[in-house]
Amino acid sequence: MIELKTPAEIERMHVTGRFVAEVLTEVGRIADVGVNLLDLEHHVRGMIERRGAESCYWDYSPSFGRGPFRNVICLSVNDAVLHGLPHDYTLRDGDVLSADIAVGIDGWVADSARTIIVGTPAEEDLRIIRATEEALEAAIEVARPGNRLGDISAAIWEVAHDYGYPVNTEFGGHGIGRTMHEGPHVANKGRAGRGLMLRPGLTLALEPWLARTTDRIVYDPDGWTIRSADGSRTAHSEHTVAITEDAPLVLTRRESETPATRPTGRLSGRNA
Ligand code: MG
Ligand code: MG
Repeated sequence: MIELKTPAEIERMHVTGRFVAEVLTEVGRIADVGVNLLDLEHHVRGMIERRGAESCYWDYSPSFGRGPFRNVICLSVNDAVLHGLPHDYTLRDGDVLSADIAVGIDGWVADSARTIIVGTPAEEDLRIIRATEEALEAAIEVARPGNRLGDISAAIWEVAHDYGYPVNTEFGGHGIGRTMHEGPHVANKGRAGRGLMLRPGLTLALEPWLARTTDRIVYDPDGWTIRSADGSRTAHSEHTVAITEDAPLVLTRRESETPATRPTGRLSGRNA
């Protein structure tokens, strides 16, 4: 079901979104070489409890997971990209860490993810992170009344294609509001001008994710952590966005975040 939200309901989601942004800012601040993923999990758990928020992941039991998820954040390192199960792992120099979190406050949910590098960054890791951030901003830019869902999917794919990264279509974005996953599904690849007409009040979690050299994925034995099938490194960027009469409203924008823009002529792809 696709539920359009009133401006007042969107403002309540924005309250949640600001908290999600704070959590991801904090994760970026404390994630460093020598920090254990379980320390991050417990730190975030404390923030959620103090805020009186509710984790959307705790007890999450989709068909693919092995038993309910018993953590409040997804932490995916290097070739892991989605649903990374926090475990006893100490971050090393140059690790790529994707953090993804969704919580509810007073019944309204927001969902966001970011990818960071701890320690010394490798150029190719910075590049794929940049690609997901630019793809996300391109998707947000077309999240406007009168456009269609396919415009969002096409915008994401076009950036990935220009960078030369393949796109997996098994996992993508989604509607969001009273629960984490609502209709519609937002594929990270699609045809412009096709699909659901975008209307004010539609709230979407847009989430491009990429692996450097494959569009195929494999699952860890834990049934949760999803990795690139060839072990290549990955990145994931996500925001919860409200379509309004005016400009798209990013409900999970971090205070220190500068939206990624696409300088023309920088890429060697077809649009360069
Ligand atoms: Mg998410
Ligand atoms: Mg999501």
